[in-house]
Amino acid sequence: MRIIIFGPPGAGKGTQAKLIEAHYNIAHLSTGEIFRTAIKKQTELGKKIESIMENGELVPDETTVALVKEELQQVKYEPGYILDGFPRTVPQAEAFDNYLQEQEVKLDSFLVLEVPEEELVERILSRSEGRSDDNEESVRKRLQVYHEETQPVIDHYEEQGLVQRVEGRGGINEIFTRIKLKLDQAKFKGGPFFKV
Ligand code: AMP
Repeated sequence: MRIIIFGPPGAGKGTQAKLIEAHYNIAHLSTGEIFRTAIKKQTELGKKIESIMENGELVPDETTVALVKEELQQVKYEPGYILDGFPRTVPQAEAFDNYLQEQEVKLDSFLVLEVPEEELVERILSRSEGRSDDNEESVRKRLQVYHEETQPVIDHYEEQGLVQRVEGRGGINEIFTRIKLKLDQAKFKGGPFFKV
């Protein structure tokens, strides 16, 4: 089972991705987490992307796509995976389509967490993860980048009939229940689930 969880910054993708990982027994791949670890360890990649991330901008597509492809080679991703924070641009989505085709596998769902704009900034600024990009200026920039570069990715998957929208307001478990319902619905409809 291969899923993408999508939504604006602050929508709760990471939190829900971890619950999906545990419930469906698939590996969670967060590009943001990989980038943060690289920065913490001051690897070559980390040094290259540090200022980009702090400013709320996007890491170049080429770097991101290469990283995801390499990461997905690990055996832990064989039973399936949930991608969180990728793809974030249409060129990334196109590159990922090609990758799936090469691997002869299909995506099962593109889950969109919907949260009203006015709630997002508040949510991010009140979360206490200590992220260096969780300051107001960076958050505004991330939202702008989301609207300009990331949101069009929804249309890309809409064309493939894979989009499942989920109301992202409410308690963590309440939202997770909605997600499970969507994913199970797709399964019972004989929908895109478990295609190899
Ligand atoms: P996230 O943890 O998903 O909110 O990502 C944090 C930051 O990492 C973003 O603001 C970007 O700077 C960078 N990043 C994460 N995923 C991507 C991606 N797919 N493409 C480009 N930059 C990314």
